[in-house]
Amino acid sequence: MTHAFETLAIHAGQDPDPSTGAVVPPLHLSSTFKQDGVGGLRGGFEYARSGNPTRQALEECLAALEGGLKGFAFASGLAAEDTLLRSVTRPGAHVLMPGDAYGGSYRLIAGVLSNWGISHTSVDLSDLDAVRAAIRPETAVLWCETPTNPLLGIADIAALAGIAHDAGALLVVDNTFASPYLQQPLALGADAVVHSTTKYMGGHSDVVGGAVVVKDAELAEKIGYHQNAVGAIAGPFDSWLTLRGIKTLGVRMDRHSDNAERIVEVLASHAAVKTVLYPGRPEHPGHEVAAKQMRRFGGMVGLRLHGGLETALEVVAKTQLFTLAESLGGVESLIEHPGKMTHQSVAGSPLEVPDDLIRLSVGIENVDDLIGDLLQALA
Ligand SMILES: *Cc1c(COP(=O)(O)O)cnc(C)c1O
Repeated sequence: MTHAFETLAIHAGQDPDPSTGAVVPPLHLSSTFKQDGVGGLRGGFEYARSGNPTRQALEECLAALEGGLKGFAFASGLAAEDTLLRSVTRPGAHVLMPGDAYGGSYRLIAGVLSNWGISHTSVDLSDLDAVRAAIRPETAVLWCETPTNPLLGIADIAALAGIAHDAGALLVVDNTFASPYLQQPLALGADAVVHSTTKYMGGHSDVVGGAVVVKDAELAEKIGYHQNAVGAIAGPFDSWLTLRGIKTLGVRMDRHSDNAERIVEVLASHAAVKTVLYPGRPEHPGHEVAAKQMRRFGGMVGLRLHGGLETALEVVAKTQLFTLAESLGGVESLIEHPGKMTHQSVAGSPLEVPDDLIRLSVGIENVDDLIGDLLQALA
């Protein structure tokens, strides 16, 4: 039977426990599993790095939500990215990535994997001719993030899948900002989806985690091998918390989107605001593509302020409901200055972000309270 997203979020991988009837998947802390004679495994489990029932419940749910064959849960988003990239590249390989990728992804590729012989090029993924021109014979991965963190850039997933596949490369999409409720990259042609489940998937700012979902059995085999061989797995309690958060993902994403839309409407005409970055605005250069591939536009909003760096730093220090903090995607609203906080790791690189930019992670509080808070901080 096929079920809709909201139903899968609550039920996929989460059948009541056969031995006790527990409706919620139990938190299995055991690091090892009794064998009935050598090799006689009861549920396929032998040692918890290789597999754990709580993590497996999460991995099955992740696969169902992204419409993939296999899901893999990791200790963080970057652990997921690292394992995926090591599974599909060799020394000499080339990775093509967005000019405004998440700073940590850039640091992983440019700062860590470069020492192992992986080269990279940053390119504006909304410019398909530039992407085609940047492809090399040794390009193994086209790395896409849409919408991007923090500039809310949009890339056309289906078009990029065509370009990657013509070149014999894989298309990987970082779907952290959208979540699978708003956007399903595998259905649009991507080979792998990665997440920082720390963000919308977990949704409550109480757990760090990551995920990879793929649709091809051979690729799943490679990633499964590396997940076990490297061991950057999600622990049982982290898996349990993430799965608990995922149950309400659809409801939360709708409210995040409702609240962000209202805030964008109010701030677009505010005298202190130079530009509002939100793919739901018709003025956004990626709006048409976003409307084609996303259900709605999510809860992340960028604001560029007239006053420059000083004003931006003042505003992020003045909000009361919007908490000044890194990260995003939780039920509570957060505000931050990417240039001095989340994206400091790309300062001085081609990926440096403007210093008049502030980033909002719009939560699911009452929207009038949120608007009141932003207006007092901008006054
Ligand atoms: C946070 C984030 C990551 C990294 O995930 P961690 O869980 O912090 O390791 C990757 N991509 C995007 C878009 C992110 O926002």
